[in-house]
Amino acid sequence: MPAPLPTVRFAPSPTGRLHVGNIRTAVLNWLFVRKAGGRFMLRLDDTDRERSTEAFAAGIAEDLAWLGLAHDLFARQSDRMDRYDEAIARLKSAGRLYPCYETPPELERRRARQRQAGRPPVYDRAALRLDEGARARFEAEGRRPHWRFLLPNFDADPLRPDHRETVFEDLIRGRQAIDLGSMSDPVLVREDGTVLYTLSSVVDDIDFAVTHVIRGEDHVTNTGVQIALFEALGAAGPRFGHHSLLTGADGRGLSKRDGSLSIEAMRAEGLEPLAIVSHAATIGTSGPVRIFASLEAAVADFDLGALSRAPARFEMAELEALHARLLHERPFDLVAERLAAIGIGGGAPFWDAVRGNLRRLDEARAWWQVVEGPVQPVIEDAELLEKAVRLFPQGPVDEATWGAWTKAIGAASGRKGRALYHPLRLALTGREAGPELRLLLPLIGRERALKRLSGETA
Ligand code: GLU
Repeated sequence: MPAPLPTVRFAPSPTGRLHVGNIRTAVLNWLFVRKAGGRFMLRLDDTDRERSTEAFAAGIAEDLAWLGLAHDLFARQSDRMDRYDEAIARLKSAGRLYPCYETPPELERRRARQRQAGRPPVYDRAALRLDEGARARFEAEGRRPHWRFLLPNFDADPLRPDHRETVFEDLIRGRQAIDLGSMSDPVLVREDGTVLYTLSSVVDDIDFAVTHVIRGEDHVTNTGVQIALFEALGAAGPRFGHHSLLTGADGRGLSKRDGSLSIEAMRAEGLEPLAIVSHAATIGTSGPVRIFASLEAAVADFDLGALSRAPARFEMAELEALHARLLHERPFDLVAERLAAIGIGGGAPFWDAVRGNLRRLDEARAWWQVVEGPVQPVIEDAELLEKAVRLFPQGPVDEATWGAWTKAIGAASGRKGRALYHPLRLALTGREAGPELRLLLPLIGRERALKRLSGETA
């Protein structure tokens, strides 16, 4: 039999926009499967109809597309209810899904009693003792059952669960053992008939032949249950890899509510998608965070084994620094189109002159205006500027002009250092600081330079 096509899925709930935490899961999945030559699926876990919205669903797709994380497969769980119903019927007929009638307050009271008695608050499977008559009485009272999955943690008598480990080899964390004997049977179907993620996810992973599930380590315990569900549904199940979670600067988990960490906000802020992807691909690995020249380069470099098990701390300053480095290293041909789109000319010489001064690509606009004008010069030292006008070298203005010119002005005026350069910069650019004048001067050109040195707006 040929090896199955590597298939992963990124499965956000459309109950909010993507943020640095969940985008990392998307990036790890995407890089992993591109490197393996397989398929990336976007799956919207939208069984929670109250909190899921179309706007969030569209926003998630938009964020992924903007980051360049194209998907090969798409599904939304709300379209697949029939498949979940079939799985539910199958589990019921195999005796693996049983009806329970306890109300939330009843369950809470029971858990409180268990805690008081020093026992873990695990569901005691009381519903398994109900006979037909008892169930009928509950129904007659108007109660609707919720349905629990009978975990395979007993020999013959489910009322006597046992220590029973599900062991799996995690792609990131190594061997994991989850004790099903200390867990409550999970609810898979609510009173109103809606299915819970634990089940719908397994059904989808089977139907779409998902081979690798890469997700946050908050799902490790779920994995114990889901492996049992794959088995109960007669499927082999995927491999699992659980990455550590990002924390905020305070060491606590990142919150979805922190809007500034959304991809949408970062995009509005003008961050380059490649910086975000590079950061997500390298944070929490054994290597330093670093910039990739392209998504392809990030794919080629990717190694799930490089992920560390320790939580990684997200710091905006680190992403900003990486982003600045991306701009500073970006070759002209990769930005040419975008510069043209915002009306910037000057070609590679302009880009090479200004890129080291940018925190955001569109800041190049302001420097383009310094080149093209009009610039209102700032006159600090009129005497020096007069000399500068007289000494402006003949011939074409090129990168050698600045050196020869300032040398001559220095010799004629006795000025050096800041006293020499600062008045020239203020007159030529109207600004205190900026890109190297050696590179800007040829772009500004003789005519505009001479006007500005004479105090004319040009
Ligand atoms: N919708 C789930 C979540 O966002 C997906 C988890 C999974 O990858 O299985 O937590």
